[in-house]
Amino acid sequence: MKLRLFAVLGAASMLLAPLAQAEDASWTQAQQPFRIYGNTWYVGTHGLSAILITSPQGHVLIDGTLPGNAKLIEANIEALGFHMKDIKLILNSHAHSDHAGAIATLAEASGAQVSASQAGAKALMAGGDDPEDPQYGETAHYPPIARVGVVADGGSARVGNIEVQAHYTPGHTPGSTSWTWRSCEENRCLNMVYADSVTALGNKDYRLRDLKHPNREPEFRHTFDIVAGLQCDILMTPHPDASDFLEKVALRDQGKLPNPLVDTKACKTYADAARVRFDSKVQEELKRTH
Ligand SMILES: [Zn+2]
Repeated sequence: MKLRLFAVLGAASMLLAPLAQAEDASWTQAQQPFRIYGNTWYVGTHGLSAILITSPQGHVLIDGTLPGNAKLIEANIEALGFHMKDIKLILNSHAHSDHAGAIATLAEASGAQVSASQAGAKALMAGGDDPEDPQYGETAHYPPIARVGVVADGGSARVGNIEVQAHYTPGHTPGSTSWTWRSCEENRCLNMVYADSVTALGNKDYRLRDLKHPNREPEFRHTFDIVAGLQCDILMTPHPDASDFLEKVALRDQGKLPNPLVDTKACKTYADAARVRFDSKVQEELKRTH
């Protein structure tokens, strides 16, 4: 009986959680795939990024978006003329359903290896059920990934001539990772950055200043410094609206010069805005506790 009740509650929360997360209709809205720069392509939905980096020896995919979006991502990749079976590696920004949910399906469809940060790998193999997650208990679970490799902080993952470097940027989740690589068009190579979410969000028990988690605040502040300091020509983020990415793409496609996607200050702007939001959250918290 107890087990049965638990199962019913579990099913109810599984139903509620994705509903709560899927509030934004843009997350499941189809998006025409397009070239970002050189061998870097956008294959996500309108509101959730999935990034494809291609080479003649195989491709890298970063993020899969929601579990129900796997078919949309596959269709986008094929529409560009690439093939699922040529994806050799799938990387993840952070192990929440809206970015990692479809990875198990996409890994199965392609046979690709999945890799993440150390903490990210653990959370992916648990299908997002991570007690260390600030939003623990309030995030949707998703199909777990059987095997996930680890890329060390500052280390690289390689497929053919593609080299993607990991920068651990914990805070939003313990395993949050930003990824960088270079993409070239003719003689111009640019520093591409897929910076993870840097927003502090947590469940009802979450505090930025928590005696039980003394590292929380310094870790976030270190992450802002890391992201701000990245060599950054084109910034992509898991939520494209966080950097007005699709608006910039539209302007670029209208022929606006210089290319609005290229902005060497974009990473710093993104990190600074997060730092301001973080500081005001700390202030709010102090007001509540005094
Ligand atoms: Zn998240």
